[in-house]
Amino acid sequence: MKKGCYDRYSEERLKNAINVKSCIREAMGNYLRNNGFTEISPVIISPETDPLHHSTGKAGFEYYKGRYQLTKSMILHKQISLLALDKVFVFSPNVRLEPVELADTGKHLVEFTQLDLEVAGATRDDILTIVEELVTHVLNHVKDKCKEELDYFDRELNIPKPPFEKIKYHHAYNKYGRIFEEVLSHEKQQPFWIIDFPSDEREFYDREDPSRPGILMDMDLIYPEGFGEALSGGEREFDPKRIVGRMNEQELELEEFKLYLEFAEKGLPSSAGFGIGLERMTRFVCGLNDIKDTCLFPKMPGTIGL
Ligand code: AMP
Ligand code: MG
Repeated sequence: MKKGCYDRYSEERLKNAINVKSCIREAMGNYLRNNGFTEISPVIISPETDPLHHSTGKAGFEYYKGRYQLTKSMILHKQISLLALDKVFVFSPNVRLEPVELADTGKHLVEFTQLDLEVAGATRDDILTIVEELVTHVLNHVKDKCKEELDYFDRELNIPKPPFEKIKYHHAYNKYGRIFEEVLSHEKQQPFWIIDFPSDEREFYDREDPSRPGILMDMDLIYPEGFGEALSGGEREFDPKRIVGRMNEQELELEEFKLYLEFAEKGLPSSAGFGIGLERMTRFVCGLNDIKDTCLFPKMPGTIGL
């Protein structure tokens, strides 16, 4: 066992961060249940999952004549859940085989939990409002309930005031280039939105604005003080022809989404939603450098952890 591995379990640091994470989760669940959402169970294994546009390997295993994958995100299942329920949320464990190059960002785990949420018939604007209310509610709750923990981390929590600033992707990109998120996150004092990502930057399920081809009705929320991305979300594509068109553009194998496409053919509701990482939020709330400190059993990119 590495030096310090055993000792970290008796440190105040870990205990306080886990208490804050628990408090965040409680506030999220209560807020959503009080606002008409139904909590659904996480899907851990499925033959089909989010293809993700970034560099995460596939994790899965053979089972009889088929193959299960570990959930990278519940987006496909969230869309289908809306056939039964109008407003859903889930605390969803995600497994993403992040490359070792991301081991030192302080923001990446191989296993983490998303609060994933989806609303039938919603627009992006509806979701921006939900997020702004949810985030301010959670921060107020933590400020109230976790005084000792915040004192320990010497963290003054400023409660942001909605509506949060919106910055269009192409403005941010033209001004700061590829590293716009990092630069702006350091510059800003309260969370802000990046909206309107170009379609080749994102997954097939993010809906293109019909009046602005190539521009998606999606968004990221970015934490201030250099803490970076908090969440991604947007309106979803539900037209089966456009879904297949986007899959083809991204050179995805349609066979890998066979069951999902059967649902899309029969009809998926229009919807919008988002996924916010619990560990990243805990890192921001506690003002931690390393996301590892938000987990009892961290799985870091490039290493094997308990
Ligand atoms: P994404 O679908 O990639 O935008 O992920 C949704 C949210 O999950 C992000 O905005 C982060 O808060 C969180 N997240 C994504 N990848 C990771 C990771 N490797 N480790 C920890 N949190 C993550
Ligand atoms: Mg994202």
